[in-house]
Amino acid sequence: MFTPRGAGNPPAVRRDHERDQCRSARVAPGPGRSPSGLFDAVLLDRDGTLIEDVPYNGDPEKVRPVPGAREALDRLRAAGLRLAVVTNQSGLARGLFTHDELRRVNARVEELLGPFDAWQICPHGERDDCACRKPAPGLVHAAARALGTSSTRCVLVGDISADMNAAAAAGAAGIMVPTPATRAAEVAAAPTVADDLPAAVTQILDRIGLVTAPGPSPRRGTVLVVRSDAAGDVLVTGPGIRAVAASAERVVLLCGPRGRIAADLLPGIDEIIEWPLPWIDGNPAPVDPGGMRALTDRLTAVHADEAVVFTSFHQSPLPLALLLRMAGVPRISAISDDYPGSLLDVRHRVPVGVPEPERALSLAAAAGFALAPDDEPGLRLRAERLPPAPAGPGEAGYVVLHPGSSVETRACPPELATRIVRVLDAAGYRVVVTGGPGERELTARVAAAGGLDLGGRTGLGELAAIIARAGALVVGNTGPAHLAAALGVPVVSLFAPTVPFGQWGPYRVPTVRLGDAGAACRDSRATRCPVPGHPCLSAVEPGRVLAALRLLGVPADVPAGPAARFAGPPRGPAVTATGGVAR
Ligand SMILES: [Zn+2]
Repeated sequence: MFTPRGAGNPPAVRRDHERDQCRSARVAPGPGRSPSGLFDAVLLDRDGTLIEDVPYNGDPEKVRPVPGAREALDRLRAAGLRLAVVTNQSGLARGLFTHDELRRVNARVEELLGPFDAWQICPHGERDDCACRKPAPGLVHAAARALGTSSTRCVLVGDISADMNAAAAAGAAGIMVPTPATRAAEVAAAPTVADDLPAAVTQILDRIGLVTAPGPSPRRGTVLVVRSDAAGDVLVTGPGIRAVAASAERVVLLCGPRGRIAADLLPGIDEIIEWPLPWIDGNPAPVDPGGMRALTDRLTAVHADEAVVFTSFHQSPLPLALLLRMAGVPRISAISDDYPGSLLDVRHRVPVGVPEPERALSLAAAAGFALAPDDEPGLRLRAERLPPAPAGPGEAGYVVLHPGSSVETRACPPELATRIVRVLDAAGYRVVVTGGPGERELTARVAAAGGLDLGGRTGLGELAAIIARAGALVVGNTGPAHLAAALGVPVVSLFAPTVPFGQWGPYRVPTVRLGDAGAACRDSRATRCPVPGHPCLSAVEPGRVLAALRLLGVPADVPAGPAARFAGPPRGPAVTATGGVAR
């Protein structure tokens, strides 16, 4: 006898209450959680994913599981993961089958595939504007709630973009298992793809295994951790560094000048050494033998008991490992596909496509370090280190648009940014435009369309303080996206596909991805767009940003209609907002 254990059909309400839930991404461990586990639950789409898609099926006799489904689900159950079905059933709204027929079909699904811990069903039609019909994130939030966890601790498996988008908008991981009916563009945009349901399950269990340390970490002395690259790279390494810090007595970070400010904001670090590494830096200075000797001396003075060298997949840890050996570091761990000889004690390998934060965590795990039991694998900042935000934006809840990037291909095209500001302003959003000191001209041009220009007025810390009070961040694939992820602020990601989204997209934070994921620049790692006109991003309709904010549950706070949302230039000490903003 089938008894739904979930909350049943959620009502068609708007999403304000869910916004709070999005923000509580850093939940305390729930009952039964595996320490530092990556996921608590797997959510599964029904039609096309668990069973063959028979459109608007009300007949239990027509239920056919996809090949290997039962065994695959049992592997998840054996691993202690909770399972839920999240399914759109608009056939109810259309009167194509009854509630009773749906119950009998779902009972048949359980009979064939074993029990699920929750069922979340959207009974609404496309025009009901409900909060639960995928791609809205309502079913994902409801399933997480019913399973006693949070959406960011869930992974959703589905066969179409609505599934992947619902997962992302809830901050959950997504794995697509395409069917012949899935469009190529949907597959290209998915964060991760598996051939079929059993392969998706293997991927989930592999990802959990990768970040799981073999045993409890013994107390370790001084550990030197290394991440020499830009701010975003340092931020995504945060979970790996926190894992090391959980059992090290002292953590010393070696970072580059471009990552220094981000490093200052990361928890778990006792001391920072800032030093550019010419084999990592994008614009490297010539190798200076004296400088290398000085670096070796500096590393020797750390008296590290061991080192964990974090890198991106296209970087080599080996030159530094040699210096660390010369500095007398007895144990060195790193990811290296290249043969390391005697340079590494723990030579770790990671499959391509793993999200960068998990890649870092997996190296920490291979070196024997696990996150503290009450820690989450997501990104985090030391809130007490954030400087005061510049005056001007006023009350929390504005939308930050950050159009620039140090890498041209990953920035939002200025023309598009301008149109986005115009559309958001007209819809009643307060838009704050941010950029570095070198981007004042850009931000002035963009903000002129109806936003508040903070260009050049924020270092990384001030930018974090601005983002912390935002309803959402609209941004390309660049450092601030990871700041937002660390602050639990939803992201509208204008993501050029030059690098994989699943690897570099905002991690464990509600996100909507926009842009042409299948564009010619895909996986090129180009820093300058190889295609005239930068079509992967410039073809984005500004209205899609508006729709994304609504999907993420970020409300406009002024009744529609362009008005003066910020009074005067944000220069003076006491800026007063007028119109609908001064609340
Ligand atoms: Zn619904």
